[in-house]
Formats: sequence, structure tokens, C-alpha cells
Amino acid sequence: MPTNKGAFKIFTLAGIGVYVHWSWFLVAFYSIQYRTHQYSSVGWNAAEYFALFLIVLIHEFGHQLACRQVGGQTHDIVLWPLGGVAYVTPPQRPGAQLWSIAAGPLVNVALVPVLAALWSASYHLGWSDSHHDLYNLLQNIWVINLVLLIFNMMPVYPLDGGQILRSLLWFMVGRAGSLFAASIIGFIGVAGLIGVAIWLQSIWLGVMAAFILMNCWGGLRQAQALARIAKLPRREGFACPSCRTAPPLGELWRCGKCGKQFDTFLTHGVCPHCGVQYGTTRCLDCGAAHPISEWMTSPPVNN
Ligand SMILES: [Zn+2]
Ligand SMILES: [Zn+2]
Ligand SMILES: [Zn+2]
Repeated sequence: MPTNKGAFKIFTLAGIGVYVHWSWFLVAFYSIQYRTHQYSSVGWNAAEYFALFLIVLIHEFGHQLACRQVGGQTHDIVLWPLGGVAYVTPPQRPGAQLWSIAAGPLVNVALVPVLAALWSASYHLGWSDSHHDLYNLLQNIWVINLVLLIFNMMPVYPLDGGQILRSLLWFMVGRAGSLFAASIIGFIGVAGLIGVAIWLQSIWLGVMAAFILMNCWGGLRQAQALARIAKLPRREGFACPSCRTAPPLGELWRCGKCGKQFDTFLTHGVCPHCGVQYGTTRCLDCGAAHPISEWMTSPPVNN
């Protein structure tokens, strides 16, 4: 789980904190100073970079608000040089995941005609001659939004396109199988991306490919763990209040104090090794934590 370590809080909107990682400022400074553009002064470069920042930000808010709508947990938005990271925990259902992910790119889709209208209006007002910098800025913002949208919709996990593909596959092959398939497709995509990065000699694409590769590897590992859990026999009389799945049988919960594993449903949240009492029990299927009493589907037997 990524954190907002090393990031500065800019503001809070609708209960969502917006952070910018320090490396973002570094890359912003570099890009504004050295990116060659058709502007007459560096101030216009800065304005273009700020527009990029805004587009990424509202894209991330798209994810957050959609996730909240389907009853998921929203956290913070952290902007990195590679793009935004929205810390969202949508419910572990394919439909909820699909909407939470798709809402981000849909923001960019909605921006396409809006930005095109602005650019077109500036053309008809004759700004390409009278306000050359402003005209170029509007044109570039339209292009930036479209490039972001196309790049992000590549079916390569964990890009939004890859995650949308994963949610769609989830309907057909289940939670573990869909993550497995999306990760494998992601590896193929990464191979292609590395090829393009070498061809274009783009450090940015190379770093992006490394980031995607790490995430695909993590996705593959998580898919294996999910498949293992899915195969385990289940305990009767209990179900997760969030996802309604019965907990698996076995010593699968690790004590945070002594580090030993135990079956929390046998001991009602007490570690049999060191005696620590846990107030809530985490669902291995969806990650939600609830007190054991809320997990019970049949009244406890008194003996
Ligand atoms: Zn996104
Ligand atoms: Zn659950
Ligand atoms: Zn313990």
C-alpha cells in the first residue's frame, strides 16, 4: 500500500486530502525550465504544467467520488511525477470496482469536447495571431488531455484500462482469475512499452514501464494468494458483514504482538499464544474488519 510519505498537503476538498509528492516539484521545475515549446516565455510553460496538474487532479476526484458512491472507502489523492494515485478501496465486487476505475477516464472523455470548444473558440476569435501564446496553450491542453486518456486506457494493469479489463474479466472468471489474467496481459504490455521506450529513448516511458512491471508482479502474487484462499474450506455459522463470504478454516490470522498464526474464529479474537484480544477480525476475502460478533450468522450455542 503506497503512502503519502514525503508529500505535502495542498488542500482538502469533499473530505479528500490532496497531496503533492516532493519529487513532483522537482520534475515540474525541470519540465517547465527545459521543455522546449512554442511559447514566448517560461510562464506559459508553467501554466501548461499547472493545467496538466488540474486535469490529473479532477481525474483522480472522478475515481474518489465514484468509489464513495458505491459505498467504498476514499482516502487521499497523492500526485506523483508519473501521475496521480487515488487511494480508494471500493467494495470487492466487480461492478463497484468497474465504476470506481472507469469514472477517472470518463472525466477525460468529458473534457475532450469542452477543451475542443475552448480551442476552437480561440481560433475563431483570431487568437492564433493576436494572442499566440494563449492559443497555443489551449491547443496543447486539448492534446495533453487526449494523450493522457489514450495512454491511461491501454489495457495494461495497473493503468486504468488494465483495471477496467480486470473488472470485466472478474464477472466471467472470478476475483483471482481476473487479476491473474490482467497481470499476464500487463507483462505483455510492459514488454511492448520497454520496446517503445528504447526506440524513443524516453526515460519517462522507461520509468513508467518499470513501475507497471512492479505492479504486474505484485498483481500476480496477489492473484496466487487469492486463489489459495478461495480454495480453502469455509467455516459455517459466520459470514463477513461486508462481502457475505464465510471465513476460511485454518490458522490464517497472524498475531500482531507475537507474530504467530491462529484461527481467530476458534478463539473469538484471542491469540492462543500470547493472550492478546483483538476487537475486530479482518476478512481475508475483502479486507474489511468487523468485530467477531457481527460475523455470526447463527446465534452462539451456550454450553
Ligand atoms: Zn485513473
Ligand atoms: Zn469480506
Ligand atoms: Zn499472539
